[in-house]
Amino acid sequence: MKNSHPKYERTLVLIKPDGIQRSLIGEVIGRYERVGLKLVGIKMIVPTRELIEKHYTLDPEWRVKTGVKTIKGYTDKGLTPPETDPLKITEKILRNLVNYMTKGPVVAMVWQGAHSVEIVRKLTGGTEPLASAQPGTIRGDFTIDSYRMSDQDGRAVRNIVHASGSVKEAADEIAHWFKKEELFNYRLAVDQMLYDVDLDGILE
Ligand code: GDP
Ligand code: MG
Repeated sequence: MKNSHPKYERTLVLIKPDGIQRSLIGEVIGRYERVGLKLVGIKMIVPTRELIEKHYTLDPEWRVKTGVKTIKGYTDKGLTPPETDPLKITEKILRNLVNYMTKGPVVAMVWQGAHSVEIVRKLTGGTEPLASAQPGTIRGDFTIDSYRMSDQDGRAVRNIVHASGSVKEAADEIAHWFKKEELFNYRLAVDQMLYDVDLDGILE
């Protein structure tokens, strides 16, 4: 990357199998595109189990963090978690995620632009469609799932897209899903309106 200006920040988005089956590819892309982000890589793949397992465990802390978060989710609602060991909970979540994410094609994308990680997370919405995804976000507008229902049915929550959670996570995930030559550096006409300090060249 040329420099560390925020306009070069990149993030990974996956349209999950339910997003593809719900015919939401265009809708999802449109939301990230219209805000001013630039698509710098895109491909469709049916992920292997290894690709997905590695994706979720790129952060060595993910297992513990997700297990602890899930247990807290249960206790906050006054419910008893199915396991007290965070790692046992995460094992189940990971198995369900691998099953979900390998069942059909996904669209993997890299979006670039100012604060792209945070902007994409904001447009994507919270992880649980019922409780944390606000109306107006992708997860809030297009799906109705809940942990209560997905846990009861023994599957991953269907939340349409994955989006990197931090700049560090984005860098690791982009390297995991894309080769260097699959990503493109190019200028868009709109970049001038978003980033140029002096808007010279508009008046004839
Ligand atoms: P995301 O970045 O918004 O997808 O959320 P996380 O990185 O925290 O979690 C990754 C995935 O793990 C989610 O998409 C869910 O499938 C699953 N997950 C996370 N937290 C919970 C939880 O509290 N309960 C259950 N059942 N699954 C969870
Ligand atoms: Mg995450």
